[in-house]
Amino acid sequence: MTVDGGRPRVRVAEVHRLSDLFVRAELEGPALAGLDLPGVPDEACVFHFPLPGGGVDDLGRWYTLRRVAPDAGRATVDVLCHEGGVGAAWARRAAVGDEIGISRANSWFRRPGDARWQILIGDAAALPALARIAEEAPDGLWTEMVAELTDDAELPATPSTARVRRVSAAPGTSALDEIVRGLELPPGQGYVYVGGEAAATRAARKALRHELGLRPVDYGVLGYWRRDAERFRKRYEAAPDRFAQAWAEAEAGGGDDEERVLDLYEAKLSEAGLI
Ligand SMILES: Cc1cc2nc3c(=O)[nH]c(=O)nc-3n(C[C@H](O)[C@H](O)[C@H](O)COP(=O)(O)OP(=O)(O)OC[C@H]3O[C@@H](n4cnc5c(N)ncnc54)[C@H](O)[C@@H]3O)c2cc1C
Repeated sequence: MTVDGGRPRVRVAEVHRLSDLFVRAELEGPALAGLDLPGVPDEACVFHFPLPGGGVDDLGRWYTLRRVAPDAGRATVDVLCHEGGVGAAWARRAAVGDEIGISRANSWFRRPGDARWQILIGDAAALPALARIAEEAPDGLWTEMVAELTDDAELPATPSTARVRRVSAAPGTSALDEIVRGLELPPGQGYVYVGGEAAATRAARKALRHELGLRPVDYGVLGYWRRDAERFRKRYEAAPDRFAQAWAEAEAGGGDDEERVLDLYEAKLSEAGLI
């Protein structure tokens, strides 16, 4: 399948069905070298998949580069085969020779240089990032990985560099905030990273900041997907200016405190019924 639209593309060189949950695609192409990858182990790119009825997904979906050698033009992505979705549907039928568009790269993981430990918490969508972060941890950095999965889900292979804990989620739910509340933080400087469903990560961020009392430098939290993605996209497309206004007001109220800005932004969206 070929992507149109003139975007840089990568080609699928290998496909591996890792488990019921994940399809691994080995990608190749010179476009990877042109992406200005941050080189941080949660780095992710926006991929534009061909649509089953023709055309290309212009919006794109973020996927973590599970492994990457940009100069060699190679990268690996592990795609979760959840119900519905352009990305998940593509993964189910992915084949060698497929081409997908690629447009941007970014990273969010900001572990302090003097950290002695890290705790990595996430649901299935975040596991590729958590696994790479654990694998690429500096020698001597104590790492715990907490995977929140439904009981019937197979835990993907995990790095030997991490102590791994599996936490059970009822289907259709996520309680990352409860995992956060139950953490026993080792002494000294460390870093807690949480990735997963948007509402669940919002609750986890609040617990880290307001209940555990961590400083913003001590943690990173990222929403990897939305349970109500279709409705959210419609709400956003119907009133992008309301989101922009909420962000501007939050920035004005929060000043340099990024976490305060996020608190205010979420409160304003929530008051307006936008999340
Ligand atoms: C920085 C970053 C890195 C990411 N890395 C990865 C990765 O390496 N592997 C990966 O699989 N995902 C990853 N994700 C998550 C992925 O981008 C989202 O799950 C995305 O919505 C998938 O697109 P889709 O087309 O399959 O589904 P969408 O079209 O976005 O959604 C369709 C339906 O599926 C539901 N849905 C979407 N995602 C999930 C999910 N994870 N679990 C259950 N239901 C879901 C939605 O609620 C919606 O109802 C990452 C996200 C971010 C922000």
